[in-house]
Amino acid sequence: MNVLVINCGSSSLKFQLINSESEEVLAKGLCERIGIDGRLTYQPEGGEKAVSELAMPTHTEAIQFVIDALTDAETGVVKSLDEIGAVGHRVVHGGEKFANSVVITDEVLKAIEECNDLAPLHNPANLIGINACQKLMPGTPMVAVFDTAFHQTMPEKAYLYGLPYEYYEKYAVRRYGFHGTSHSFVSKHAAEFLGLDLNNSKIIVAHLGNGASISAVLNGKCIDTSMGLTPLEGLVMGTRSGDMDPAIMEYIAKKEDLDIAGVMNVLNKKSGVFGLSKNLSSDFRDLEEGMESGNKYAKAAMEVFCYRVAKYIGSYVAAMNGVDAIAFTAGIGENACIVREYVLSYLGYLGITVDAEANKKRGEDLVISTADSKVKVAIIPTNEELAIARETVALV
Ligand code: AMP
Repeated sequence: MNVLVINCGSSSLKFQLINSESEEVLAKGLCERIGIDGRLTYQPEGGEKAVSELAMPTHTEAIQFVIDALTDAETGVVKSLDEIGAVGHRVVHGGEKFANSVVITDEVLKAIEECNDLAPLHNPANLIGINACQKLMPGTPMVAVFDTAFHQTMPEKAYLYGLPYEYYEKYAVRRYGFHGTSHSFVSKHAAEFLGLDLNNSKIIVAHLGNGASISAVLNGKCIDTSMGLTPLEGLVMGTRSGDMDPAIMEYIAKKEDLDIAGVMNVLNKKSGVFGLSKNLSSDFRDLEEGMESGNKYAKAAMEVFCYRVAKYIGSYVAAMNGVDAIAFTAGIGENACIVREYVLSYLGYLGITVDAEANKKRGEDLVISTADSKVKVAIIPTNEELAIARETVALV
């Protein structure tokens, strides 16, 4: 079956058409500037990437252009919509309502809408994408795959904040966690790749991308994760602060004469390694270059980032009373050798020894610990689209 995987933002929409038997990507692309003007980037398997400027006043036009591209007589990869068996939608927040992926029905749409408050920038956009697809592909089954679902197995002690309990009861304030599709995919794949029994294993997944989070996966189930009510908590990220003293918010608001929206903007968009490096970059390739040329702020950013990752790993070893494997994934985890080296340099006490040569490689399933290391360490590239396609097929 061919599955169309859709990841819809407020003004953009990423897509992949995946053959679920071969797990090949038949075509992929991106619609950008939806509601502004509109641009489609489309690339069939083995073919050239084509960019076209097309008017996309709403997501419906964007999805129509995606369908037109996929079924185009020359560059398309299917003859008609009949060859698309299902659509898998990434949905950011499922609150406590969704611990698994679900086939989309009217009730499901309503329940997703009820989570809008928890992810006001993302869920409404995800819903717009679903509605537009339903309009253009009536009769094609659609599945929602939630970023939060994998983390719903966390125990109360891990998801409650030290706040008045009523805030949890009245407003659903608790830790939810994100990147769940990736943490689920990578933990399962790591167990398989490393020859561990998933149901009897302690795995820490470090999803280090522009947004970054860590999870502790005990016997295949998430028992803790670093992101919280929103994706702002936890690790230092590209432009997000991660954990900090909440009193800093009031202090900075007064000093810089900012309101709450202004402070949130700083914490989400101007902090992290970007802010630490004095706006040099949020990209680790630039930070590495900066460090090599003696930029002390780039060095500080790199050190703060890695130290935070190492501290979280230590805390999750405590949470699981041990660890069998650590998996690095996403843009930084898969590619930035220097980050893995720094992080692992803190973990010798666990009996981890690193194969320095292996750690110089990137972007493929790879063991980077030595044969006698007490904990296995691996690079496991994530593939959220494939994970969504698999979930979708399993349900339809
Ligand atoms: P993601 O959000 O998973 O797509 O990760 C994007 C981030 O990965 C970028 O902002 C970079 O910081 C990092 N990244 C990607 N490629 C490399 C590379 N070759 N070396 C170091 N960092 C990289």
